[in-house]
Amino acid sequence: MASTPELTQITHGVFAWLPGQPSAWGLANCGLITFQGRALLVDTPYTPALTDVFLKAARAAAGPSVPLDRVVVTHANGDHTWGLQQLPGAQVFATEAALKHQCLEPTPEQLHLLAHDSDPDRPLGWYFRRHFGEFDFRGIDVMPPTDTFTGRLDLTVGEMPVELHEVGPAHTVGDLIVHLPEQRVVFAGDIVFSGDHPSHWAGPLAAVASACRRILDLGPEWVVPGHGPLMAAEELGRHIAYLDDLSDQAYLMHGQGRSAEDAARVLLKEGRYAGLGLPERLAITLSTEYRHLDGDSAEPDLLALADGAARIAWERASMPPRTS
Ligand SMILES: [Zn+2]
Repeated sequence: MASTPELTQITHGVFAWLPGQPSAWGLANCGLITFQGRALLVDTPYTPALTDVFLKAARAAAGPSVPLDRVVVTHANGDHTWGLQQLPGAQVFATEAALKHQCLEPTPEQLHLLAHDSDPDRPLGWYFRRHFGEFDFRGIDVMPPTDTFTGRLDLTVGEMPVELHEVGPAHTVGDLIVHLPEQRVVFAGDIVFSGDHPSHWAGPLAAVASACRRILDLGPEWVVPGHGPLMAAEELGRHIAYLDDLSDQAYLMHGQGRSAEDAARVLLKEGRYAGLGLPERLAITLSTEYRHLDGDSAEPDLLALADGAARIAWERASMPPRTS
């Protein structure tokens, strides 16, 4: 794994670990908030090996005597939670909905099989090997949060106030954001993606956009997205415009009787959101949006959603190069 970054200091006592490269799945950002001899981590990486890298950097930034014994988990996806076993005994904060959602996630064993033992000549196997083949998911115990809440929970790190706001269902059913009012920083989890198309599993897009607007209303100077580079408030404004437009396009194409996957193909063909990585993830977010437009309240089949994205990526990889 090429990503072994140090922490980036955002302001006094607030650090982000930003391992992501463009067009990469799974390399989630994490955070360290440390003040007056106390610390709070925001999320953990995907695997124990990556978590050890993050914790080494966090230990260096926090100092040797500061206990790393509290973690906020922004949502239940494995790329934000599967490192928790490297922090035995830690207090882990999450929303009640995130705890309930955890059992719907693919297990580390399932993901390991998909990434290493699936058929490379089929879209899903090809796609998982390509995007998850570098991760070793063996030996991961999925750890539940120890402290759950609904609505809002206020914590402190030393005397620094830290607000946890539940904003889901949006990206998943159990999302929260971490607001540091004095430092004007928000850790947004996967409510916000930077650089790549998001993949939203719960939706609808209006709920994700509304969560983004709640972040803007907090007046942050910096937003740490779940994936990709740090964002200033103006950039978050542009991301909201993308979410609003995608919601409109989904509504239109659903009304025209197109499937979600075809709607993704149409938007990609017209180059509507050029410049964002992982364009095939439109199939995931549009399928989620269609579920809402259809009034379908069944739990999403996450692997079926990933399969739709894999088919689009497979098609795009098989396309002849453009001649002009
Ligand atoms: Zn994520």
